[in-house]
Amino acid sequence: MMRTFHRMRKFRTQLTLTIALIVFATVALISILANTFINMEFEKYAQEQQQSRAADIAANLSHQYNSMAGEWNIEYIHGVGMTAMVDGYIIRLMDLRGNMVWDAENHDMETCTQVMMDIIGRMEKKRPDLSGSFVTQEYDLKQNSQKIGSVEIQYYGPFFLSESDFHFLDSLNLVLFAVGLLALLCSLLAGGFLAKRISRPIIKTAQYAYQIAEGNYKIRFEDTIKTRELDELVKAVNHIAASLDNQELLRKRLTTDVAHELRTPLTAVASHLEAMIEGLWEITPQRLQSCYEEIGRISGLISDLEQLAKVENENLRLKKADVDLLELVHTVAWNFETESSKKNLSVSISGAETHVTADKDRLNQVLANLLSNAIKYTPENGEIHMTVKDTNQSGIVVIADNGIGIPQKDLPFIFERFYRTDKSRNRSTGGAGIGLAIVKSIVTAHGGTITAESGDGQGSRFTVTLPK
Ligand code: ADP
Repeated sequence: MMRTFHRMRKFRTQLTLTIALIVFATVALISILANTFINMEFEKYAQEQQQSRAADIAANLSHQYNSMAGEWNIEYIHGVGMTAMVDGYIIRLMDLRGNMVWDAENHDMETCTQVMMDIIGRMEKKRPDLSGSFVTQEYDLKQNSQKIGSVEIQYYGPFFLSESDFHFLDSLNLVLFAVGLLALLCSLLAGGFLAKRISRPIIKTAQYAYQIAEGNYKIRFEDTIKTRELDELVKAVNHIAASLDNQELLRKRLTTDVAHELRTPLTAVASHLEAMIEGLWEITPQRLQSCYEEIGRISGLISDLEQLAKVENENLRLKKADVDLLELVHTVAWNFETESSKKNLSVSISGAETHVTADKDRLNQVLANLLSNAIKYTPENGEIHMTVKDTNQSGIVVIADNGIGIPQKDLPFIFERFYRTDKSRNRSTGGAGIGLAIVKSIVTAHGGTITAESGDGQGSRFTVTLPK
């Protein structure tokens, strides 16, 4: 028990870890992909943004020239230049003749260097693979399509990101990481829960199986299980318990029945012999004959039992082949001709050729037992009719007689071992009540069914249905 429990726990951990691993791998993959993609897109965006900013600056500056006066609005240019510088754009503005109008580096060398060092430092730290540098882009400044000067804008290329841009990317990564962690946590919990749900019925089923092995056939697993495969497992175990229980019952009943059947004739013989030994009875050939007959009955019973055992063993290995039921019915009827003619019974046969896959010898025995019963339990001049029918899925043989019939109350039991109706007991015509048990056993082994219909004094009708 301990070993099983230990193994189950291992299974549980395994399942939990597997689920967690899968979820982790998925989340990690999604995070990496999302991260790379977002970074890529963001960098592309930054690059475009940078170019359009530079172009904007140039356009803005081109408005700061008064062509009438031939003067630049230095104050405004200074404002634009300083704002641009803080953002990482170093401006140098020149007029048409190439004279410097405004130069950020000249103007505030210190801030300029500071800004450039900041950007280089930041980018080299955060994007060491980029190997970027400050590049200079020159723009012509125009008014009414006339060149009025030019501007050189220096900025870090291929692109650069500000502190807040990096901050944005970092928080995005943090969110992805947190989601991953949360998913991992959830998957561990879900995995644990799922594993518990699966392993609990397995452990319980195993315990039930042990109990069944120890002989507790009455035990049944009754909880409802929602997992189909586990439900199958539980059903299988329940089925084993039920059939073992049934077997056990049959075994016990067989023992009681055999004991009971043997006791009656044995008691008779014993008491007769005792009476003769003690001199209470005179020893006469008739009395010896009667003892002899009782002993004959006992050995008849024993050979019936042997036959039943044999049939049940042989049913395990049926020699199936194509059998024509109509032909078989004719053969069996012919075999019983002497017996039926002794009682002047009319035996008729009707129906069509019907082929089934079955063990011919076993089927012969089925029909022989049924016909022999019909002959036994039908008074002289009676009628027996055998019909063979072919349906799509099965072959059917009906054996009907107009004999003494079977009382309604006995009908459910006649296929049981040793069961005989009172009538047949009284007439002492029958055997031990095993014939129909043999019939049922063979038919069932073929996957077929047998039914009996009758009413007291109405004759009997047995229907055997065999799958094709
Ligand atoms: P038995 O050896 O006594 O014939 P079976 O198992 O063949 O045992 O039959 C069981 C009992 O069913 C018989 O004892 C008899 O009471 C009843 N029975 C079977 N077949 C018929 C029949 N054709 N007509 C009337 N009773 C029948």
